[in-house]
Formats: sequence, C-alpha cells, structure tokens
Amino acid sequence: MRVRAAVLRRPGHELEIVDADLRDPGAGEVRVRVDACGICRSDLHVADTGESIQFPAVLGHEGAGVIEQAGPGSSLSVGDHVVLSWSPRCGTCPRCLEGAPNLCHQLTTSTDTGGLTLDGQALNSYMGLGCLVESVVLRQQRVVPMPADLPAAALCLIGCGVATGYGAAVRTASISVGERVAVFGCGAVGLSAIQGARLAGAAQVIAVDPDPVRRDLATKLGATATLDPEAPADVTAELLDRTAGGVDVAIEATGHPDVMARLLDAVHPGGRAVVVGLPAADATIEISPFHLLYEKTLTGSIYGSVDPHTEFPLMGELYRQGRLDLDSLQGAHHGLDQANDAFTELREHRSPRPIVRPNQH
Ligand SMILES: [Zn+2]
Ligand SMILES: [Zn+2]
Repeated sequence: MRVRAAVLRRPGHELEIVDADLRDPGAGEVRVRVDACGICRSDLHVADTGESIQFPAVLGHEGAGVIEQAGPGSSLSVGDHVVLSWSPRCGTCPRCLEGAPNLCHQLTTSTDTGGLTLDGQALNSYMGLGCLVESVVLRQQRVVPMPADLPAAALCLIGCGVATGYGAAVRTASISVGERVAVFGCGAVGLSAIQGARLAGAAQVIAVDPDPVRRDLATKLGATATLDPEAPADVTAELLDRTAGGVDVAIEATGHPDVMARLLDAVHPGGRAVVVGLPAADATIEISPFHLLYEKTLTGSIYGSVDPHTEFPLMGELYRQGRLDLDSLQGAHHGLDQANDAFTELREHRSPRPIVRPNQH
C-alpha cells in the first residue's frame, strides 16, 4: 500500500513529505496506523548531525496508534491500541532473558525498518520505529498494547520521553519516600523525572532550568522549588545549602557534558547521580575520583530502566488516574505536512513536546 511519510534525505535538511510503499506485515509483524508521534530531542539531534542513522530515513520514535493488520502468528489483533517501543526486545540475549529489554544486545545493531521503500529504495527507520508516517510495519515485540480509551497524543509520549524521565526517577534511581532530589533540565524528560520523583514520595524536588516558562511547568508538575542555573552565582552551593549538604538523587536531563560532569557535586556522600540526556557522540566528561571514594554512585539510564511491556500500561493507568500529567507536556499538534514546523517548535523550546498527527489532514 501507499502511505505518506516524512523523509529526511540528509542531515541539516528539511523533511520531505512523500508517498512511499509499505509492505504487508510478515510472520510475527503488525501494521500500525500512527495516530500521534511526539518529536523528541534525539530526533532533532540526528536530523541536525546525522549521528547514528543511515539516510534516507524516517524519523520519529515516540508513537501511538492502532493495529490495522496482523501478520501470521501475531498475538495482537486488529483494532488494538498500542504504543511503540524502541527496544528491539530480541528475547534471546542475556539482558532480555534477565527481564531488562531496555539493555537488549540489539539496541545499537538492530536493522529493523518500518517496511517502507521509496522509488524502490529501502527507507531506514530511526531507532527501528520511524513513525513519522501514516502507517508502519513492525515486529510485534516493538508494539505494546494499551487501553483503548486513552488519547493517542498523550500515550505516544510514554514511548520515549516519559518512560525515560519517569523511569530514571522511579526505577534507575529508585527514589524512596522522603528523599531529596534535584532534576537538571526541564524538557519533557526532566519534567517526567520530576513527576516520577513526586510519585515516589520525594520530600524535595528542586528543578534547575534557565527558562522561566519551563520552571513554572516544573512547579505545576511537582517541583517543590526551582533554580535558574544562570542566576545564583553557584547553583551547586545553593543546592547544598537548601538540602543540608547535598541531594540524595541528582538527575541530569540536558544532554550537556558540563552539567553531567558537575552532577556529583550536588550529591551528598553515598548519594546517586543519574545521567539521562543524549550527548554528542564525541562528548567526554571528567570527574574527581574523590566523589567515588565518598560512595557516590554515577550511572546512566536508558529507557528509564523500564520493561516497556509491563511499565507502559502502568504509566497509562497513572495518566488515567490523573497522577501522571501527559497533557501539560504537549505542545501544538501538527499534520504530517507540518512536520518541519514541529521540529522548529522543539528547536526553539516553544513546548516540551510538539505532536505530529500523521493521519489528521
Ligand atoms: Zn526520544
Ligand atoms: Zn535482547
């Protein structure tokens, strides 16, 4: 069948909206109608730099939609509402067998595509999903069934930004009741980490971001205080002062190596620091080994350390209950023809998450 897709032919160029060919789903595959796709900062990063992607490519890896066709042997049914998962979930590598599909060995080697060709040439799919398209064909391991009564524009956010931020707080850092938390960066991921910290019962959640609009949103979503990193002379000293010697957990959601390198400064001896943001491919950081001697932990978090198949439905339920706000994260909704406007909206920090609705014209 023919579908409309937003294709990036080379880095630094505009997306082109084209008619592409989509093959039928094979064994264990499904065809998903994409109803909503959030634009994530990593889409912007690869569009600008061309890192970790082959061209021509379909970007978009934060999608929700409905199963339109199920291939032979699929356990999913036509009409099922789903969120797309960028974990390949091969099911046979040691990490998948341990129940950690976010660390699947195929994460960086998977050659899954969305089943699309343009003028006979295969289109690559960013993160194995490439969902800036009307419909996409995926292995069913990349598709997570969700309740049918929740809106796609909210659910899609769970597929990357919300899982990443919420999971970093609740799963990677395992924040517990009464802990003191700092979150650096209040984009969609940082705002989701703030919500995760609030849900986990943190006593203090201090949000650090230079943008006053983002700081206000952080307060709305659960931050107990906010800091402008450009206003106090020393934001670390301010954090130490407000938390009696350092936070229990510091979460970085900026992608800036200088913020990552200073993360442990804000953490008390024995505390934890979690790096979540996507840095440039050649980025490095330097830290003092004394932080480690003082039993501070520095770790990263990929996909919020969650198993999409168990935690995406849980996040949907928290949204239904009004405990996880997925509405305040949404910016403007754009048709596929306006996909470039959605990238501009994110680039100019006009909202945490512009949404593309590929099937709304
Ligand atoms: Zn993402
Ligand atoms: Zn695996």
